Amino acid sequence: MSEDKWDRYCQRLPRRALGFFPTPVMELRRLTDRLGGPRILMKRDDLTGLALGGNKVRKLELLVGDALGQGCDTLVTGGAAQSNHCRQTAAAAAACGLGCHLVLGGEAPPVAEGNLLLDLLFGAQIHWTGPLRKGEKIPEIATRLKADGLRPYVVPYGGSGPLGAAGFVDAARELRMQLEALGCDISHLVFASSSGGTQAGLVVGKAAHGGSFDVVGIGIDKEGVGEEPLRERVLRLAGETARLIGFDCAFSARDIIVREECLGSGYGVVGDAEREAIRLVAETEGVLLDPVYTGRAMAGLLGMIESRDLTADDTVLFWHTGGAPALFPHARELA
Ligand SMILES: *Cc1c(COP(=O)(O)O)cnc(C)c1O
Repeated sequence: MSEDKWDRYCQRLPRRALGFFPTPVMELRRLTDRLGGPRILMKRDDLTGLALGGNKVRKLELLVGDALGQGCDTLVTGGAAQSNHCRQTAAAAAACGLGCHLVLGGEAPPVAEGNLLLDLLFGAQIHWTGPLRKGEKIPEIATRLKADGLRPYVVPYGGSGPLGAAGFVDAARELRMQLEALGCDISHLVFASSSGGTQAGLVVGKAAHGGSFDVVGIGIDKEGVGEEPLRERVLRLAGETARLIGFDCAFSARDIIVREECLGSGYGVVGDAEREAIRLVAETEGVLLDPVYTGRAMAGLLGMIESRDLTADDTVLFWHTGGAPALFPHARELA
């Protein structure tokens, strides 16, 4: 897509600045040396700036822009009790003077820790929904808020509708410009993939802005969202996102690489693989991964090296999507 066309399209999308961009790209030299290659770079979306950072800020800039454009006064979203997405949404609401209702799986714990503590500090109202941790009750709660005279805006689960995913089309352009400045070509882009918006946006972004690397999502959640497998969800979202931005491009199953060999014992269950990956990166680079997403995704990257799907000739960029606030509630499994 030409720069002109891209700029015109960008001006059409709603946007409220919430974070600090571009996020840094750093070289993980000591990790690369320790592993004997491939060359590993890291994109630091844990440093997006809002409320301890994370990838959802890119989606929320567009979603909150849309909410404000529609004159809404309250954001409603949902997820797991330790949802990073919910924490970033609560912070975005606070920063814009909006109310925030979070629909969280599980029961209220005796002590609020990690992301949940931060949700409360940002003034979010919490609705506990027991076994439902994917925001299943968001529509019901939005209806109730409307009946109370509020103007709720529903932020989709994980921020992963086409508008949220468009934030990652933009991110792919940001990365391309950074790699050009570094004079660096990458062969693989690796990251944690869950509700699919990050991956869909990066797939569309690679097609729109150029790049010859593999976009590799490491699946972190066995259950997926609803009945739809992650691969199909990403493919559908990529098509919807391209359509939204007026980018004429069709995607096929071949464009969607999802690796699901790291699902372990399920969502948020920390095993040896996550623990070792977190320690390795902390000890070699002084960089914190998280127990649920990036720790598992890094374990996936290490697995790709072990199975020789990645070799010393490759250059991999690991997209750090944030999540460190969840380290603390998992202290017992990590220490
Ligand atoms: C939400 C999240 C992801 C996954 O992004 P999706 O767009 O939902 O696939 C990865 N890492 C962290 C830390 C997250 O919070």
